[in-house]
Amino acid sequence: MKKVTLSKFSKEELCDYIVKQGEMKFRAEQIHSWIWAKNAKSFDDMTDVKKEFRAFLNENCQILDCRIKTRQISSDGTIKYLIEYKDGLCAEAVLMRFDNRSNLSMCVSCQVGCKMGCKFCATGKNGFKRNLEANEIVSQILLAQMDTDLKITNVVFMGQGEPFDNFENIKKAIELINKNLQISIRRMTVSTSGIVPKIYELAQNDLIPTLAISLHAPNHQIREKIMPIEKKYNIEELKKALIEFNKITKDRITIEYILIGGLNDTKECAFELIDFLKDIKCNINLIPYNPINSDIDFKKPNKKDMLKFKYLLEAFGKKVTIRLERGADIDAACGQLAGKLNN
Ligand code: SAH
Ligand code: SF4
Repeated sequence: MKKVTLSKFSKEELCDYIVKQGEMKFRAEQIHSWIWAKNAKSFDDMTDVKKEFRAFLNENCQILDCRIKTRQISSDGTIKYLIEYKDGLCAEAVLMRFDNRSNLSMCVSCQVGCKMGCKFCATGKNGFKRNLEANEIVSQILLAQMDTDLKITNVVFMGQGEPFDNFENIKKAIELINKNLQISIRRMTVSTSGIVPKIYELAQNDLIPTLAISLHAPNHQIREKIMPIEKKYNIEELKKALIEFNKITKDRITIEYILIGGLNDTKECAFELIDFLKDIKCNINLIPYNPINSDIDFKKPNKKDMLKFKYLLEAFGKKVTIRLERGADIDAACGQLAGKLNN
């Protein structure tokens, strides 16, 4: 018999299900809290649920319908999980601890593979397998919490896949993370390669996370060379959408810009980027290119050029950060997630 997966349910749905089994509503509340707030790994952990009902749960239900297949721990404390889903496909999720902050950030995947084909990214190299359901996305966080017994405080949708190519599930996942895991929408960030219509749609959503845009180039010519999406939604259309997003949400956007040595890290590119961003309320996150196994010969930027690029942008009043490289020794850094065991 197929077991019922309880982490799929909203609180109301869980109540309905438990009450249908002849139990009181408070029982559902206990179970909800064990799953979402107390990192219960099994029904036997739920010590205030009476034994007979735990036996029923063990027989008929499961908390999750996926599992941690492998776990790699980086020398900097970053943990990369390979999560196996019910059909045997896997996706990666990365837990990042920052020693000097109390934040614990989880980077989640939203698809197995990716259709976008960005030239610098390992995820798209093996093609696209399928979308992850909302519950499968949220399970990545639950599994990491169960594994570490820590409470995750921030979620970034920056793992494998293009969130806006799986929009309905992303919206549902955001709601589950907010309502069930009690993580504020201010602590969630969704990164997109720039599927323009969904930027307008997100601006109308009830819960609006921080929007991060993978821009990576200051003009059409360079962007087209490294991101096929530029052919469908070009950088000028993207700019219009970002200005509108600013207007509707009043929120600052994060602009992600991978620095690739000699390609987009020149002084000219910095000036062009400043001009492109002048009407957009944003912070800029520079990401040093992480080499991936590919036949394309992109280079890491050198440190001097990177700092020069940063100073030029700052001189024009932008807040700029250089993204810390996390977990590069276990291929957990940006762009390195390839879900190796799917191959
Ligand atoms: N698909 C979404 C989110 C996942 S990628 C997106 O593209 O925005 C998360 C970030 O890592 C993106 O900004 C992406 O462009 C960047 N990235 C991809 N490959 C990279 C690489 N090799 N080095 C550095 N950053 C990379
Ligand atoms: Fe997909 Fe993002 Fe990688 Fe591009 S950078 S291929 S959109 S995961």
